[in-house]
Amino acid sequence: MIQRLTQALVDFVYPKKCCLCSCIGDALCPDCRNGLPQDKLQISLILPFEIVTEVHSLFPFDGVAADLVKALKYGRTTAAADPMAKYLADHWHADVSLACDAIIPVPLHTSRLNSRGYNQSALLSDQLPDQLRRDEWLRRTRATPPQVELSRVERLTNLKGAFLADPEVKGKVILLIDDVRTSGGTVNACAEALKKADAAEVKVLTFCGNHEDPDSWAVSF
Ligand SMILES: [Zn+2]
Repeated sequence: MIQRLTQALVDFVYPKKCCLCSCIGDALCPDCRNGLPQDKLQISLILPFEIVTEVHSLFPFDGVAADLVKALKYGRTTAAADPMAKYLADHWHADVSLACDAIIPVPLHTSRLNSRGYNQSALLSDQLPDQLRRDEWLRRTRATPPQVELSRVERLTNLKGAFLADPEVKGKVILLIDDVRTSGGTVNACAEALKKADAAEVKVLTFCGNHEDPDSWAVSF
């Protein structure tokens, strides 16, 4: 009872605002939410012959969806993570093809984690089942320039060898979570590390995706 009263007081003094337009109400107001494409899961790739067998991206990297990614990643608007994480969790629960043994958010290097203060992919994983979270199974061992500052070709090689997977991944089906997938360089580099440690399969779920270049998925190990 006291907890609810305290929360009501906090809400009164600091009312919840929309993370994009700042109107008072929800973390993502109905108007902004309506700007998202209504058909969730815009992009899905099934790649049975690759280490990455499934790639699901809920929205194209465009409009409100891209605004949410940028607000969370560059605007330090962590309030955006909550509604985004809910979309990811709803999709995961609804789609059995993303069944897995372990869920791992794409890790940041310690230096980036310290400067940003949080890992946006970890925040986006927070509404997925806790008992499957294994963040510690994948580490970023090398600091690299942000992907956004590089050309498409540079992005594909920038992260090569930048990740290290724990031997515990052996034989496991891993689900990687990230905010956005563009060239695929980040998840490919993670998948490469997981494969080296003998993971059975890697699936990918991202909030946004841009799969205009499916050739970038031809990863050979
Ligand atoms: Zn809004």
